[in-house]
Amino acid sequence: MKVRLARIAGFCMGVREAMELALDVSAQDPGPIFTYGPLIHNPSALQLLREKGIEVLSEIPAHGEGTVIIRAHGVTPDEKKALEEAGFFVIDGTCPRVIKVQSLAGHYAQKGYTIVVVGDKGHPEVKGILGHAGGKGILLSDESDLEALSIEGPYIIVAQTTQDRERFEEWSKRILERFPNGRLFDTICDSTKKRQDEVRRLAREVDAIIVVGGKKSANTTRLAEIAAEEGKEVFFVETEAEIDEDALKKFSVVGVTAGASTPNWVINGVLRRVEAIPGSDESFFHRALWRTLRFLHESNLWTGLSGAALCVGSSIIMDSPLGIAPLLAFFTVFAMHTLNRILDHRSGRFNDPLRTAFLLRYREIFLASSVVSICLSIFLAATLGWIKLLFLLLIVALGIVYTLTPLKDLAGSKTLFVAGAWATVSVLVPCENPFGDPLCWLIALFSFLLVVLRDILMEIIDVQGDRLVGRETLTILLGEERMLSLASRATLVLAILSFIAPLLIPGIEGDFWAYGVAFLYGLFLTKSFARERLGKNLRLEILVEAISMVFMTAAILFNISPS
Ligand code: SF4
Repeated sequence: MKVRLARIAGFCMGVREAMELALDVSAQDPGPIFTYGPLIHNPSALQLLREKGIEVLSEIPAHGEGTVIIRAHGVTPDEKKALEEAGFFVIDGTCPRVIKVQSLAGHYAQKGYTIVVVGDKGHPEVKGILGHAGGKGILLSDESDLEALSIEGPYIIVAQTTQDRERFEEWSKRILERFPNGRLFDTICDSTKKRQDEVRRLAREVDAIIVVGGKKSANTTRLAEIAAEEGKEVFFVETEAEIDEDALKKFSVVGVTAGASTPNWVINGVLRRVEAIPGSDESFFHRALWRTLRFLHESNLWTGLSGAALCVGSSIIMDSPLGIAPLLAFFTVFAMHTLNRILDHRSGRFNDPLRTAFLLRYREIFLASSVVSICLSIFLAATLGWIKLLFLLLIVALGIVYTLTPLKDLAGSKTLFVAGAWATVSVLVPCENPFGDPLCWLIALFSFLLVVLRDILMEIIDVQGDRLVGRETLTILLGEERMLSLASRATLVLAILSFIAPLLIPGIEGDFWAYGVAFLYGLFLTKSFARERLGKNLRLEILVEAISMVFMTAAILFNISPS
């Protein structure tokens, strides 16, 4: 089935920062740790926080100990004071955009203004804003509040950040007509508006919409309402377990959107599940192709093939005979990644739940095939001579040391290890004279960098799961946006270097441009992802893994084209 993920779906900036804050605190603080009220309106995320030892504090006790994190919605000044007086160490996770509304309310209330708040009755954010207005606030939740409104003196109008903009504008106009002495502040969060605009756009392109998120989440419910207003059948689910496959089978294209409090791992689970449902107009060929790709991806065979493709491309550029080297690269890369996924399935549970479930369901088969693959790699390397055997044994030994020592906890160490292993089996092993041919090391360096790019993109796709299990990666250290921008710039420079290398370095021929093509392809993926044209889904992972296939194809074409 064709699935289109909304360009803006999942955690908004405020929720993401509050979640990251809570996870960072849980990693450093011995506890007890609480959030004042549920951090976000999503049962899966709350369950995960509980697993991390973060409990929900519903009422402020007279005495307490530990740390309390204030959620993105914010609190009233009285509540914050009461928490501190009870003995808690308070960490403020209020979203900066909510702080802005609170500050407006506090500032104008002090100057004697009335604060008119358009928002939902009882919503924690509204309570916080009214608290900052210090008794000078008036809440408008429905038409009857609007009719009964009476204001004396100057006033301002603000909105709860997640309000519907059209209604807010209409109400504000009516209020200002009745009471001209007011000032309007549009405090609706762009993130909400963009999400709502996006669901309207998406609804025009698809047959039905799946809205993923907590049933108690106001902004998620509003997305479902908007999708229904656009005339599309709407399926509102909290997790992939609620997907009604029979009901979806009658559609050919389905859109997926998610509220601001829906974690990526929940969206991923839904996407993977829906992608697997056959669409109403899918041809047999299309269905078979997608299922094959999906199986290759979930079983790690696609990753193994990617390693073999890198080996074929590098061998062509080095003018080395292909022989058994691609097979050796396939077995090594397949075994390395399969073992890693099985041993470290905690983050996979969040990043790619279906793939992890598949690997764990057939755990014995995958473990056995990985061990057999390693043995076959060693055997094949031995047939190529003792130097190649040493290279392979070195990778296996380093892999064991890496897995068993704290080395694996160093940010970026996994990327360097994986890229080093791929470059060794795909370049140094097929190279006829690795210690006598400097070009072989240059090609190994470019292959290494190509795999670094692949790994960085994978790391960006997996960032939420990695953070949840407390793994330090370069993307977590630098932040997703900075990492994407760095990766784009570095990839462009590498593409240019690949194209000019044959002109500057004797011995390098035109087929070296294959690296340039592969880096440009990587740049295209990076830019498409940054501009939200590609979502974090199975398709993107398959496309990222295909970088080596693009490289191999370009190497073959440059090699056979007349120079
Ligand atoms: S919706 Fe906007 S204001 Fe509300 S938490 Fe998210 S980013 Fe902040």
